[in-house]
Amino acid sequence: MLVKEILESRNEPVFSLEFFPPKKQEDWDRLFETISNLIPLDPSYVSVTYGAGGSTRERTHNLVTKIQKETGITVVSHLTCIGSERAEIESILRLYRENGINNVLALRGDKPADIPTIEEAVKDFPHAIDLVRFIKENFPEMGIGVAGFPEGHPETPNRMKELEYLKEKVDAGADYIVTQLFFDNRDYFDYVERCAIAGINVPIIPGIMPIATKKGMIRMSELALGSRIPAKLLRRVLEAADDQEVAKIGIEWATSQVQELIDNRVKGVHFYTLNLAEATLKIFENIRK
Ligand SMILES: Cc1cc2nc3c(=O)[nH]c(=O)nc-3n(C[C@H](O)[C@H](O)[C@H](O)COP(=O)(O)OP(=O)(O)OC[C@H]3O[C@@H](n4cnc5c(N)ncnc54)[C@H](O)[C@@H]3O)c2cc1C
Repeated sequence: MLVKEILESRNEPVFSLEFFPPKKQEDWDRLFETISNLIPLDPSYVSVTYGAGGSTRERTHNLVTKIQKETGITVVSHLTCIGSERAEIESILRLYRENGINNVLALRGDKPADIPTIEEAVKDFPHAIDLVRFIKENFPEMGIGVAGFPEGHPETPNRMKELEYLKEKVDAGADYIVTQLFFDNRDYFDYVERCAIAGINVPIIPGIMPIATKKGMIRMSELALGSRIPAKLLRRVLEAADDQEVAKIGIEWATSQVQELIDNRVKGVHFYTLNLAEATLKIFENIRK
């Protein structure tokens, strides 16, 4: 089923889960244990991230097809285009078509660290919109999602221009938008409203990730795309005695975010699981109480 059809067919918010393809074999076994623990939550679809470089790409393909075959759940494969040529993207999409994968999250991806400028990294697809257009033209049966950034993307020259680019992606054929994770729902609600003003009318699915460890939070905030940690949350995490307490705080915070999003009738919530089941299970338990 296409994600677009799933979003259109439900009156309640849908839930989706994101996984990444592990590097080591033993982590694959653990991931499938995580997936089987999360299946009872009845996710409407799951998505699998995509990394640069040959072996990482192969892992994404393998994971996407394995999940689809073993669980029957609708799978969305992330696909980045920054360093790719048309032939490569075409062969990946053909492979998905042959394996019944018909949902793609079309992304540009980031510049590899060893390439000095973004211009040097780009081959046939300068921006995600070029990938959206390519898919629409050559694989019209595919469902397409794209990324959105409630707090802005670091390379965006200004926030008005950003919405213009986002609208172009939607006009080119994107069915829905999944957001970068955020910790303050006001950023998301404001983003949704600004998108509406810009004439963007597709579902905007909020991405949620609970903070799990103090170190993880600091690492996240150091990334270029680091989301803003509201002072209230920051204080609680920094004052926590240990990571067990941090995980509890992270789950509590994410639960209240999800509850507020549901109360505001979002179309769906996307969970960045980091391949772990516990936090997502706990959030579901809290909101279903
Ligand atoms: C939900 C989600 C999932 C992700 N999954 C992955 C993943 O699996 N693998 C991975 O490597 N990365 C992933 N990313 C990260 C993403 O690839 C990076 O954030 C990347 O820098 C931006 O990708 P994009 O698709 O938004 O690019 P674009 O839409 O191309 O935007 C990139 C920048 O270019 C600007 N821009 C867009 N269009 C134009 C235009 N026509 N002219 C000029 N400027 C323009 C934008 O404003 C933005 O600043 C994900 C991000 C999100 C939010």
